[in-house]
Amino acid sequence: MIKKTKFYSYKTGCLAKGCQLCVKGEKLVLFVTGICSRNCYYCPLSEQKKNKDFVYANEWKISNDKEVIKEAELCNAKGAGITGGDPLLRLERTIKYIKLLKKNFGKNFHIHLYAVPETINKNNLKKLYDAGLDEIRFHPDIENSRFWDKIGLAKKFKWKVGVEIPAIPKKLRETEKLIEYLVSLKPKIDFINLNELEVSDTNANHLVEKGFVPKNRISYGVLGSEKVALTLLKKYGKKINMHYCTAKLKDKVQLANRIKKRAKNIKKKFYIVTNSGSLIRGAIYLKELKPNFGYHKKIQSLTNSEKKKLIKELNRFKLILEKEFNIPKDMFFVDVLKLRILTNIGVVTHFAEYIKKNKFVPAIVEEYPTWDQMELNIEFI
Ligand code: SF4
Repeated sequence: MIKKTKFYSYKTGCLAKGCQLCVKGEKLVLFVTGICSRNCYYCPLSEQKKNKDFVYANEWKISNDKEVIKEAELCNAKGAGITGGDPLLRLERTIKYIKLLKKNFGKNFHIHLYAVPETINKNNLKKLYDAGLDEIRFHPDIENSRFWDKIGLAKKFKWKVGVEIPAIPKKLRETEKLIEYLVSLKPKIDFINLNELEVSDTNANHLVEKGFVPKNRISYGVLGSEKVALTLLKKYGKKINMHYCTAKLKDKVQLANRIKKRAKNIKKKFYIVTNSGSLIRGAIYLKELKPNFGYHKKIQSLTNSEKKKLIKELNRFKLILEKEFNIPKDMFFVDVLKLRILTNIGVVTHFAEYIKKNKFVPAIVEEYPTWDQMELNIEFI
């Protein structure tokens, strides 16, 4: 029987352990490379990540192992989902991170990994298993059965094996063929996850070309995806554990739960944390770095010595505010990533004229508590 979960998804049977932790926001998303052996038309990877060989722990672009651990700690992660690109194209890196996370957080830190059948073999599966991987999820090509038989290789190891694919409108018959193949496997795989097909900045043109449209104005979910998923759950849900994961689950539950934990851990006494986990703060910007079109690119293009100079300037003004108005030191924080001073709303509103007279820009900002502090709203004063 199909059950609607309390987190806007549908399931039959049991939810995979990786998903149980994910919905609680307890999984670190470890993106190990944007390089991929496939080129799916629905690939949701952003331009920043697609075919780029970078590592991200959640939103943090990683330059050393300590940052991965730090991000996991800041989100109180109880596990990680390793993704890409194709993590197996950077096998040694992937193995290094599995070992690193297990060593730091213990063997119960649950790690699942997304792989495509094209690049797996007995050898690399054994290496992943020996490193401590708990769950492997395959993303086979729905329209080409050439590599499907490789999925069975993973059942030679004592971990959980699943398949995770998008529910694509107009591809019901092709998806049925794949699921029929999967349920016939002996030994059986453990679960099938169907994801709501989503529109992203990068795949929008390809999806529109194929006649797919968003289901409504506020959702990234594609019209018809849910219908395909529920038809498949109804038809095969008795034979295998199935889960239909919606765009709403990812946005309203998984991301929201994760950012609430991070907000708590990075909170300073002058931040206001909203019910959804976003932060409202006062911000004092340098005039030349006032947020507007191209603001992020401008920051990224600064050299280290330019940044140092601007940070010095921010520290100088912070000191003036402390001394001039007798404001306690801990009411200010120089944000070296976005090159601004953060403080409470009272300071920026009360001293707005003074701040402007000194050629700085006061504002009230609402942002995600993620590493990239994505802006939700900026109100200049
Ligand atoms: S396998 Fe995944 S990462 Fe690679 S192209 Fe397809 S959707 Fe994108």
